[in-house]
Amino acid sequence: MSPASIEEIIAALASETPHHPEIAAELELHLALLQKVAQVSPAAQKVEAVKAGALDNLNVDWTAAMELARAVLEETAARRPDLGETLAPLQAALNPQFFITSAMNYLQWGYVRELPSDGREDLGALWAFVLNYALRPWLRALAAAALPTIELEKWQQGKCPVCGGNPDFAALVKEPAEGGRVLLCSRCDAEWPFPRTSCPLCGDSHPQKQGYHPVGEGGRYRLYVCEACGGYVKTVDLRVVDNSLPLAVERVLTLGLDVAAIQAGYGAPSRE
Ligand SMILES: [Zn+2]
Ligand SMILES: [Zn+2]
Repeated sequence: MSPASIEEIIAALASETPHHPEIAAELELHLALLQKVAQVSPAAQKVEAVKAGALDNLNVDWTAAMELARAVLEETAARRPDLGETLAPLQAALNPQFFITSAMNYLQWGYVRELPSDGREDLGALWAFVLNYALRPWLRALAAAALPTIELEKWQQGKCPVCGGNPDFAALVKEPAEGGRVLLCSRCDAEWPFPRTSCPLCGDSHPQKQGYHPVGEGGRYRLYVCEACGGYVKTVDLRVVDNSLPLAVERVLTLGLDVAAIQAGYGAPSRE
């Protein structure tokens, strides 16, 4: 399965948005941010220098990335006035030194380590959201260049074979084998196969700790949960749907599942 282009993701999300009036504002925000990502033309990536996780070699135009972060903050503040107070310290702190240090550490560690000192508690999640969009053109370019060079069937890990990120979405697939599963990287949108019986976030495979809840009409979605690490993975069952969408679109259409999972006490696995 080759990941969708940014243009395909935008077109599919735009045509789905009218069918989801209950989350229209969120979908329109993501659509506007994806359009900003699509306007950036990232330089070619040196795949060999960026082995899975060695992201300090990622070829990023830091000026363009910081401009994208600024545009993401402005768009989010304009569309979500309720977040204005939370976003203000980030907008005030957006200088090259803070941005580059924070973005490099986010790439390397997978979570935010630097925040403005006067920020609220939920600032980390928002800054990760901004960084994820601001770095997306370069991470997607890396995935496009690297995926053809990787033997995905041999990877066998829950972390992304391109950038080392965690998956935030999955699909149950018919091909190549019934019952197979494909994961979607939360950072670079790479897709790779991983066994359905193990948690991709912690590797646990005890049947009594791995479960799922069916969600939505016709069994389209499943929320896989892991009692070993407390993590969850939103999943679409492509064996039962007849309108398959890019996984990067399904990730956005299922924002309600994230809310449900977090309310049920699941979340990102604890950091080492
Ligand atoms: Zn990745
Ligand atoms: Zn787990």
